[in-house]
Amino acid sequence: MSPSGSPIIGIRANSAQARTLRSPEELLGAGLVEREQLPAITHVAERYATAIPSAFMELIETPDDPIGLQVIPSPDELQTAPHELADPIGDDALSPVPGIVHRYADRALLKPLLICPLYCRFCFRREHVGPDGGLLDEEALTVAFRWLRENTAIREVILTGGDPLMLSPRRLEHIMRELASIPHVTTLRIHSRVPLAAPEKISDALLDAMDTDKAVWLVVHANHAREFSPAGREALKKIQRRGIPVLGQSVLLRGVNDSEDALEGLFRAMVESRMKPYYLHQLDPAPGTARFHVPIAEGRQLLAGLRGRVTGLAWPTYVLDIPGGYGKVPLGPDYLEPSLSAVSDPNGQKHTIRTPDSL
Ligand SMILES: *Cc1c(COP(=O)(O)O)cnc(C)c1O
Ligand code: SF4
Repeated sequence: MSPSGSPIIGIRANSAQARTLRSPEELLGAGLVEREQLPAITHVAERYATAIPSAFMELIETPDDPIGLQVIPSPDELQTAPHELADPIGDDALSPVPGIVHRYADRALLKPLLICPLYCRFCFRREHVGPDGGLLDEEALTVAFRWLRENTAIREVILTGGDPLMLSPRRLEHIMRELASIPHVTTLRIHSRVPLAAPEKISDALLDAMDTDKAVWLVVHANHAREFSPAGREALKKIQRRGIPVLGQSVLLRGVNDSEDALEGLFRAMVESRMKPYYLHQLDPAPGTARFHVPIAEGRQLLAGLRGRVTGLAWPTYVLDIPGGYGKVPLGPDYLEPSLSAVSDPNGQKHTIRTPDSL
């Protein structure tokens, strides 16, 4: 049902076409926004990129469901809360050359483009990502590759953006080959939403481009079990057949996955797709995202509720990227008492432990 209570006929009618909805008028035509909202949504769209690819569109049943909330712009995005920051995790200050972000000694981010298959309404880089910006040209790429070659402590290059799997296979292959040829780089990691959000893009040519002699890991961003469509799961399988391990990363989001059942469903869907839940992120305070905020105390309680209820394979690390650029840290829940001499079990009962630490 649409916000006014009428069924959304446009959604199913449009789903046959493999195209991406972008403009406020297209969203209106698809029944995702109300006509009265159009002026406000137009303001939002002028400020923040919007895209809903057809594979994701087909998963939306109502605009306020866990899929719709992630991608449909809201007038609330024009309200910046006092604690929100344009560059919440301090990437800009840590960029030695364009496209590189270097915070940890052994690894660096490379952002070859700022295009995504869809634009998450809670994106931590929402002030930067979009369809018409940020593609590193040949010259900028050369400078970035040179920086990586000169910094011999870098073991791992993390391709992010934007979404690296939105690159053409030819361009991605060029980047992957170049990175793999750096002697001290042992590991390449790609962060992407493409396999589930736009599975038709996982072509043989793109798979060839991802496949290098160095270890390649893929981290797929997904926030709800319903994102695991048959086509998406098939795309993941194709990637795994290339020997690429797949991890999952999610953001804890109000209205999307803020219940034990939703998180259990999400992490079980990942495990069933041979994907290890890696991080559950606390929401970064990007502008206009307060409607998605779940307090840390609640996040810890949700994870504590899952402990003992789901397989350890379905247990991510709950992390906060400390606003200002101080790095990612686990947020618990904790089971060890500060004294180090007692622990709680998954049911909350305390037990004294005798270890060398407690003697
Ligand atoms: C998140 C992030 C990484 C990767 O951190 P992991 O804990 O290894 O996943 C690396 N560099 C920067 C700048 C980051 O923000
Ligand atoms: S896929 Fe990542 S970078 Fe792109 S909009 Fe979503 S959170 Fe932002």
